[in-house]
Amino acid sequence: MIPRFKPNLGWDEFYAIFRNNKGAVERFEEAFAEAFNAKEAVSFPYGRSAQWAFFKAHGIEDAEIIMPAYTCSVVAHAVKLSGNQPVFVDIQLSDYNMDLCQLASKVTPKTRAIVATHTFGYPQDIEQLESIANDAGQKYGHKVWLMQDCCHAFGAQWKGRDIGSSGDVAVYAFNISKLLTCVFGGMLTFQDKQIAKKLRAFRDKEYQNPSFWKAIARRIYLLAIYPAFNELVYGFVWLLQEKTTLLNKFTESYHLDEKIHFPPDYRDLMMDFEAAIGLEQLDKYHEIIRERRINAVWYDENLTRKNSWVYPQLVEGATYSHYVVRVPNRRQILAEYASRGVHLGKLIEYSIPETAPYKKINQSYPNSYEASLSTVNFPMHKIIK
Ligand SMILES: *Cc1c(COP(=O)(O)O)cnc(C)c1O
Repeated sequence: MIPRFKPNLGWDEFYAIFRNNKGAVERFEEAFAEAFNAKEAVSFPYGRSAQWAFFKAHGIEDAEIIMPAYTCSVVAHAVKLSGNQPVFVDIQLSDYNMDLCQLASKVTPKTRAIVATHTFGYPQDIEQLESIANDAGQKYGHKVWLMQDCCHAFGAQWKGRDIGSSGDVAVYAFNISKLLTCVFGGMLTFQDKQIAKKLRAFRDKEYQNPSFWKAIARRIYLLAIYPAFNELVYGFVWLLQEKTTLLNKFTESYHLDEKIHFPPDYRDLMMDFEAAIGLEQLDKYHEIIRERRINAVWYDENLTRKNSWVYPQLVEGATYSHYVVRVPNRRQILAEYASRGVHLGKLIEYSIPETAPYKKINQSYPNSYEASLSTVNFPMHKIIK
């Protein structure tokens, strides 16, 4: 069976498991900052943990943090767990990004930050985002931070400018479903070295070295990834996932959509071996993006067109973490493709304000809701007819 995504792991990453990787975290931070046009980068064990640290380090509390209604739920959890309230903005269905016309109206005197997700690799207007954040800051007389969430959008550009190079901070994540992986992990990048220094100091004080057992478990997990995503084996993994609860133990400690929680190790430091994997991935990163862009064009030209389906647009500067089609009868389409040996993804299958922890928010986000019910994503590591 063809997996819905597949980490681009080869022999170089495999060898890195067994090498002595001393100093790899610092080397990875430096190389990452350079690759993504930042002055400095600071690593974390997860993307969400990086976002949490940013709010904590700046003492942002009891504040409102604006974010899209349609993004990874862990972003809202990071806001909540840092002691703040998420304020949601509906998306536009053309590129699944926050509707910037609605954004400014959500700013209140309590707003202290805006998290702008460049969803599915689609860049949004970073100039407009910067100007909304600046205006808000001037209006209320305090800094309104702009965080570019590039977890889907490594290297995406808006009018030729790297999205991650704009705003006050950018966040990246490295789990196996991202464009570039360190098994797990996250990164904040900065244009201002003073802010980077503040985050580094916060992290070094509040985060600890992982346990010996975690270091072993992570290596075993990575070793298991190689066969698990092999097409001959993946059908079995898919069955375990769909028909049994055996794999839940792994996925639940990492991610629960319906509960505000972080994995227990969210305050561990990134390990040298993970950073070593990241360094290998950075070498391939241009190739990974190039392939995705080629595959997006291929789908655009060749995917059989159906009247009731809504196809994504090709956008200048996008990096296509996912190729997303909206279908009227998702369950049936997923089953049809599965029977042909293709696992289509259904990301993102919730609108955050509709999930249990955020449900009391009494507002509607129709586009986010529509997307949550109807999106399927085609594999980007391999084209599917
Ligand atoms: C993956 C992701 C994150 C956070 O990543 P974790 O490492 O899983 O915490 C944040 N935002 C978006 C949009 C993501 O896709």
